[in-house]
Amino acid sequence: MSSNSKTLFIVEDNPADTLHYLRLLDEVKHDFKTIETSTTLADACERMSQQPPLCCLLDYNLPDGSALSFLELLKTKFENGLCPIIVITGQEDTETAVKLMQHGAQDYLVKQKLDAEQLLRVIQHSIQTWQLQRQLNHLALYDPLTSLVNRTLFIDRLIQMFEAGKRNLRPFALLYIDIDYFKAVNDNYGHEAGDCMLKSMAEQLLANMRSTDTAARLGGDEFSVLLPDISEAKAHHFSHKLVQALTLDLPWKDGFISIAPSIGLACYPSRADSYQEFMREADFALYRAKNNGRGQYSAFNKAMETETRQLTQLSSALPKVLLNQRLQIAYQPIIDVSTLAVDSIEALVRWKFKQNWISPEKIIELVLERRLSESFHQWLFENTIQQLSDWQRSAPDLSLALNLPANICHDAKLLNQLLSVLKDTSIDPQKITVEVTETHMMQYPDETKLRLKTLADFGVQISIDDFGTGYSSMQYLASLPCDTLKIDRQFFMDLNTNERNAQIIEAITALSHRLGLKVIAEGIETAELLQAATEFGCDYAQGYWLGAPVITQQEFSAFCVESKRQGDRLIAKV
Ligand code: C2E
Ligand code: MG
Ligand code: MG
Repeated sequence: MSSNSKTLFIVEDNPADTLHYLRLLDEVKHDFKTIETSTTLADACERMSQQPPLCCLLDYNLPDGSALSFLELLKTKFENGLCPIIVITGQEDTETAVKLMQHGAQDYLVKQKLDAEQLLRVIQHSIQTWQLQRQLNHLALYDPLTSLVNRTLFIDRLIQMFEAGKRNLRPFALLYIDIDYFKAVNDNYGHEAGDCMLKSMAEQLLANMRSTDTAARLGGDEFSVLLPDISEAKAHHFSHKLVQALTLDLPWKDGFISIAPSIGLACYPSRADSYQEFMREADFALYRAKNNGRGQYSAFNKAMETETRQLTQLSSALPKVLLNQRLQIAYQPIIDVSTLAVDSIEALVRWKFKQNWISPEKIIELVLERRLSESFHQWLFENTIQQLSDWQRSAPDLSLALNLPANICHDAKLLNQLLSVLKDTSIDPQKITVEVTETHMMQYPDETKLRLKTLADFGVQISIDDFGTGYSSMQYLASLPCDTLKIDRQFFMDLNTNERNAQIIEAITALSHRLGLKVIAEGIETAELLQAATEFGCDYAQGYWLGAPVITQQEFSAFCVESKRQGDRLIAKV
């Protein structure tokens, strides 16, 4: 309802008084286009609700109630008030004045003392302060960029809905929405593009919602939606629809920026005891949606409950573990197939938490999730490069392979960190290989290429990990500053059960060689597989049969012996 009607509303039961106010207003220059009058509160309330005036002059005593009861009524009907209200009283009485202001009146005037100038001044002042207050209220509760509800108001509404849901078992749903790789858009195209993207997201959200739903921007690229009175099935349908609606190609300068959301859905009734716990459910579902490959929604379910608890524990323990350097590094040899000598060593992170080994993939997820990438990588780069430097004293040609995380192309700091650690040592950059998985690379091929080029220009070797699982074209590969392909271990591990694997390995190896790339066979668990890798023409091999990952602080030759699993295959290149 807009209040820009430029109408003044006078509520007064005494016609002589109304006439008096009208005459006074005639004496001054005011902006009102119309002046409406009413003699009862009921009539005034109805008409003002339909078309809110710019200001209202309200007599203190009316036939159907006092000004206080009118103010009270407006407060219950309109959360943010309807318009500024100036009460006109018969006599000056400070106590009454204070009460009126407390009930929401903007100002008050004494009938007998009224003159035209004073009346106009009070009206203008009331309108100005009322509008200012509304702006301030808006700023406190709404996001200035998108005009969506902000976190404060959102939490308030969520609490109300959660309490009502608990009392009356009314179903509702909460969605957490995150724009995939928003940071990358900001970094690569600038904040203007980021802002434009956030606004488009907000518009799409509003276009897909009912008026009783709430859409909020919680901060950064985090959005949320509250859907009252909705069944679980319908909430799923809505989430699915929203993923499609928020998958956009935004026109930007001469091209497009493609964006997509990840959405986490939590439905009430749930086992959550508090609204905070309920929020964690939506948050965890969002985390799952992102891990499942982004651009999709995921709903919280029972199976996630135990996992949430474990992950919460891990997530809160991680910063301290990192600070106290309690993560460990395992090293696994990569063998030159023609000589069976160790060519390089891959560093693989390890963490034992309460007697359980946490998978490296989960560690990296948590590191990224908790934005600990900088300290984690500083620790990883310094320790592994120091270890390489120690080993190079007995094996000068040894190289080190480091895995880089999925967000490599969105984290400008990461590569600089590696380069700066390298610059502080005497290690030849050619002896460092970074491994980037194919799947992650293909999500942002152009950006990844650019970042990898910085490393390659410095002399660092580039290897594409888990090759065969992503969808890179050979044409793209040829354009990359890449030196090695690591054929995904599954191809070798299933070699005997899947006939097509041999053809795939053969094709990858032949094409790679034509492009001048070396090939590493992963997952060599038996002597037969090593034999097969040799016959396929793979240049290097890695696997449990050649040496499992070992946590070690030993001399290089001792490490080689320790990491050797079977036979006398492994020869240290000393
Ligand atoms: P990846 O880079 O492909 O590493 C090889 C994985 O294969 C390692 O698992 C290794 O233990 C396993 N492996 C080696 N030989 C064999 C074999 O013969 N048979 C079988 N079944 N497995 C074998 P791990 O250590 O669990 O690491 C899993 C993944 O986690 C790595 O795959 C890598 O993508 C990631 N990762 C590990 N450490 C780091 C790290 O420091 N940073 C990043 N970003 N990712 C890491
Ligand atoms: Mg690797
Ligand atoms: Mg691999």
